[in-house]
Amino acid sequence: HDGDELPHATKKTMADHLRKFEQLFTLTPQRMRMIVEAFKETLALGLSQPGQIVPMIPTFVFGYPTGQETGEYLAVDLGGTNLRICLVTLQGKGEFEITQSKYRLTEEQKQGDGQQLFDFCAQCLKTFIDTNYVDEDGKSTLSEGQVLPLGFTFSYPCSQERIDHGVLIRWTKGFGAGDTEGRDVAAMFNKSVDDLKIPVKMTALINDTTGTLIASHYVNPRTKIAVIFGTGCNAAYMERVGDIPKIKNLGIDDDAEMAINCEWGAFDSFKHEHLPRTKYDQIVDESSNKVGEQAFEKLISGRYLGEILRLVLCDLIDEGVLFLGQNTYKLETPYVLETAFLSLMESDPTDELLMIIGIFSHFFALDTTLAERQFFKALAKLIGRRAARLSACGIAAIVSKKNYLEEGCSVGADGSLYNKYPHFADRVHEGLQDIFGEKGKNIITHHAEDGSGVGSSIIAAMTKIRKDAGKY
Ligand code: BGC
Ligand code: MG
Repeated sequence: HDGDELPHATKKTMADHLRKFEQLFTLTPQRMRMIVEAFKETLALGLSQPGQIVPMIPTFVFGYPTGQETGEYLAVDLGGTNLRICLVTLQGKGEFEITQSKYRLTEEQKQGDGQQLFDFCAQCLKTFIDTNYVDEDGKSTLSEGQVLPLGFTFSYPCSQERIDHGVLIRWTKGFGAGDTEGRDVAAMFNKSVDDLKIPVKMTALINDTTGTLIASHYVNPRTKIAVIFGTGCNAAYMERVGDIPKIKNLGIDDDAEMAINCEWGAFDSFKHEHLPRTKYDQIVDESSNKVGEQAFEKLISGRYLGEILRLVLCDLIDEGVLFLGQNTYKLETPYVLETAFLSLMESDPTDELLMIIGIFSHFFALDTTLAERQFFKALAKLIGRRAARLSACGIAAIVSKKNYLEEGCSVGADGSLYNKYPHFADRVHEGLQDIFGEKGKNIITHHAEDGSGVGSSIIAAMTKIRKDAGKY
């Protein structure tokens, strides 16, 4: 009967559409190599002059840990989605233990007043100390006058003059808390801590990538680069001070090594000369609170991938292709389609794509045909694969700048996309081989230790060792 023809017709249209999106979202090896070249120039520029779009921030974290660092440290990790408070015990020999609590940030906290955001961090820190530093009778186990050392992981671009200082260059990842950009966030955090009389001393302000580089190296000394693929995207690596022209005047030994927080998410911002942007990427950008900024990150990170797919679907709804005769309003709210849904869609193992049925009916009250579901899954793959291949371009730029290709190296990676998105790592590796050929196999990524918690603590420990040696 009539009904038999409909699914067939739908399938054909979906396949046609898919071909169009394949063209839009696929990156050829040649295009990738061009991006790598531009990326390398950008990295060099950032190292040579202050105030560049990709700021290549000197972090004042000197060299790798020995793995022998020991002691108990607190870490406060203000990320793109959560606030975490951690207590890390470094046991030496590359081992550690961690206790933590986690709070999901509200939109009001992200957009409200900056000092209030730090007050919230301090409040949570106080609660954590009050509950973790007590004996069975509820009495504090801290001795009179004891001050706990703390590392503060603040995962936004900050220009640093010292390890315990950092001026926020700009918010990213949709944050917009007022009166914070251009100010020293370390001082703001310290004020909140002082107001509550919390017995801690913040000794290091670090970026999550820097923390990941250090934590990853603590357990796996082959690590030479760290990358975060989470709500945001960024990388750090170790640079010879003599090769950072913009800090030559500081009188630091040329042969010393310092971690560089690249802030590569800003690559190609404003000018948009190098990256392949589709009209969906442009909409993501133009409707963001930071138009023109974080151009690379907006094509890659977990905050945006779901939104890119949602915009494609909305376009096809407008064209009368998808969800005919259904009320699509639930899908029309920006950011309702989270990147976690793409992960689920890509990992749906059933022939009928039952998980995808569930997502659309449960969250968006929409019925789907099998052809539509296959299309969604294929689309998720295109968007996820593009993100991974672009990431490979960034990694390749650092690898080739540092000449790591021959000897090979390991890239410590962390973040929800890397840890949870199916095939993400394989696609990065495949991308590296498309760029470098066979030798690309010398560069492998591995899941890094918790850089924001453990890394922050190791850096606090390294800082203490340096201070005790009279080096600051
Ligand atoms: C921030 C970086 C951070 C990255 C990953 C980006 O939006 O600018 O500082 O490392 O997200 O969290
Ligand atoms: Mg994080």
